[in-house]
Amino acid sequence: MLQIEWAEMHMPVVARFIRERFEQEKPLKDVRVGATLHVTKETAALVRTLVAGGAEVRLAASNPLSTQDEVAAALARHDGVEVCAWRGMSEDEYFSCIRWVAKWEPNIVIDDGGDLHATLHKEYPDVAGRVWGGTEETTTGVIRLRAMEKEGVLRYPAIAVNDAKTKTMFDNRYGTGQSTIDGILRATNILLAGKIVVVAGYGWVGRGIANRARGMGARVIVTEVDPIKALEAVMDGFDVMPMMEAARRGDVFITATGNKKVIRREHIEVMKDGAILANAGHFNVEIWVPDLEEMAVSKRVIRPNVTEYRLPDGRRIYLLAEGRLVNLVAAEGHPSEVMDMSFANQALSAEYLVKNRGKLEPRLYMVPREVDEEVARLKLRALGIEIDRLTEEQKEYLSSWQL
Ligand code: NAD
Ligand code: SAH
Repeated sequence: MLQIEWAEMHMPVVARFIRERFEQEKPLKDVRVGATLHVTKETAALVRTLVAGGAEVRLAASNPLSTQDEVAAALARHDGVEVCAWRGMSEDEYFSCIRWVAKWEPNIVIDDGGDLHATLHKEYPDVAGRVWGGTEETTTGVIRLRAMEKEGVLRYPAIAVNDAKTKTMFDNRYGTGQSTIDGILRATNILLAGKIVVVAGYGWVGRGIANRARGMGARVIVTEVDPIKALEAVMDGFDVMPMMEAARRGDVFITATGNKKVIRREHIEVMKDGAILANAGHFNVEIWVPDLEEMAVSKRVIRPNVTEYRLPDGRRIYLLAEGRLVNLVAAEGHPSEVMDMSFANQALSAEYLVKNRGKLEPRLYMVPREVDEEVARLKLRALGIEIDRLTEEQKEYLSSWQL
């Protein structure tokens, strides 16, 4: 399929280096890998590498609106992968696909957002008890796994792929930074130059978006709850203020907090006519859509992925992508180049879990440092970039205190 070929062309680490080794070594031979991921051309590249390593894969969507249907069909048709995903599925259908993965009794589980891990633990605890290990793609999923570990309920070792340096620093920051702007522009085609863009949250994702929006000429306001991050935003040159104040000023609002009700009734009440709301954080809870629904006297889809809510005083508020991840619903998600690193961590973490089967505790583990560094090394190799090496004298200098 041409879309997958295009992604793989830009994913040399996953689709060339790791796949070639997996084809020879078959580290996942006969391993059942159950995955809940956005079904995109980049995910197809990962899945094809897992299959090359000998895995049997069942794949469900990690978001009801992000599936690229032609990719789902191609994986099922050409790669022997069982897929339960289509764009526009209902919430019930979404969870029934996740259950379909859980019921299959996977050995390794790969999740994005934590719904598969949560479903296994809540509804299929015996199956969870037999899982060899799991991985998690995103910040919110890692937060959930950490809460499970803290409560002592986690039933298998889990690797926080999100927290690998070669994931967060690139995927969350540059990937979301670019693709969120891409999603907003594809949905609206507005001019960003001169607009007041409010970014909620100045974590990895928020930083990426704020910087890219500024690069397009927007005047950017940041909202935060963490004083250190807020200070960082100030010193990076952004205006920082509470959402209640930013709500009156913004033309475009982008949430990136992983938190719920970040934009809610009291904020919507003071927004300008024509304000645009987009979420790049987590599921559909950051912009509290039930408030918009209750406040509106009418609603219509004015363009694909743009819903207009008319308020009683005549103001119009535009919600993008139904409040779900704008970059994956209105655009194609992150560019392949960054998913190459995120998914290299996924492939190598799955291999690590299989190799260390039975040796790990049911705890949350970081991606091993050697894996993280290997991903960076392979990416540099693909880019044709060489770097210096420490001399013996330098190594000694850096490891001694007697100069
Ligand atoms: P992070 O922890 O680095 O940043 C989140 C920031 O939001 C923190 O600085 C926190 O203080 C702030 N915050 C929390 N509640 C807030 C509130 N009420 N108002 C203002 N700020 C608030 O996390 P991250 O890696 O930046 O990820 C953020 C979210 O984006 C997560 O849900 C993650 O899963 C998701 N994510 C989405 C994509 C995507 O493709 N759209 C990619 C990566 C991560
Ligand atoms: N599943 C939840 C959680 C956030 S998803 C939800 O849909 O709301 C955020 C994750 O999507 C990121 O961590 C990123 O790695 C992944 N992602 C972004 N672009 C992608 C792409 N093109 N293909 C597959 N996954 C992608």
